[in-house]
Amino acid sequence: MFKVLAVPAFKDNYLWLIHDGRHAAVVDPGDAAPILAALASHNLSLSAILLTHHHADHIGGVPALLRQFKVPVYGPRHDNIDCVTEALDEGNIVRLSQPVLELTVIEVPGHTRGHIAYFCEAQKWLFCGDTLFAGGCGRLFEGTPQQMATSLAKLAALPDATEVFCAHEYTLANLRFAAEVEPGNRALQERIKTEQAKRDQEVPTVPSTIGLEKATNPFLRYREPEIVQRLRSEGRLYEDVPIAAFAALREWKNTYK
Ligand code: ZN
Ligand code: FE
Repeated sequence: MFKVLAVPAFKDNYLWLIHDGRHAAVVDPGDAAPILAALASHNLSLSAILLTHHHADHIGGVPALLRQFKVPVYGPRHDNIDCVTEALDEGNIVRLSQPVLELTVIEVPGHTRGHIAYFCEAQKWLFCGDTLFAGGCGRLFEGTPQQMATSLAKLAALPDATEVFCAHEYTLANLRFAAEVEPGNRALQERIKTEQAKRDQEVPTVPSTIGLEKATNPFLRYREPEIVQRLRSEGRLYEDVPIAAFAALREWKNTYK
């Protein structure tokens, strides 16, 4: 029986512990202290570290974890992270022995040049760092709108039931922007109520699912006529090609309050 445990860190990060009740792999340990505390309180020993990209809030805890656990560190080849011992490319399969789990590597450049996601087909779990967020997507620090749109399309092609374990609790702010650009989306209005209720109880809104993201996330829906129309009426669309709509959405979201 495998489980994924959300370990909150910093202001709004989630670090993920994949475990079988005895051993655990951690995804994106930006901080070691909350991971060590979670391992102790659940009686787990750490067997692997998985990294999605090079930002400090995703890798900062690695040295301290390695001082206590001699474990492999998996990460994207093209983000050049010092502590990575197993550099990964598109299509590589990470075979964990404790817990026994296979994860397929999907290259998703855009937020960073080398950003990768991990997909566990058997469990339908996606660990996607700062690429696909619940209701949004990561900022384009090192990539182009075209790269990010292509990366998101790869993730959107996964089964609808896939659970999306992203790295931040940005959902309500993302959905507020989504409602601004696609006010007529009923599924989105419903989702805002559901997610608001979770936050009122201080429950994480993550994981979501690929199906829900396809129905409500504007960065997967930028071809929708209502969104294109909305961008036009705001004077934000300069070219009549889908990627221009994606770029305009990302641009708008960067400054949206
Ligand atoms: Zn990041
Ligand atoms: Fe981050």
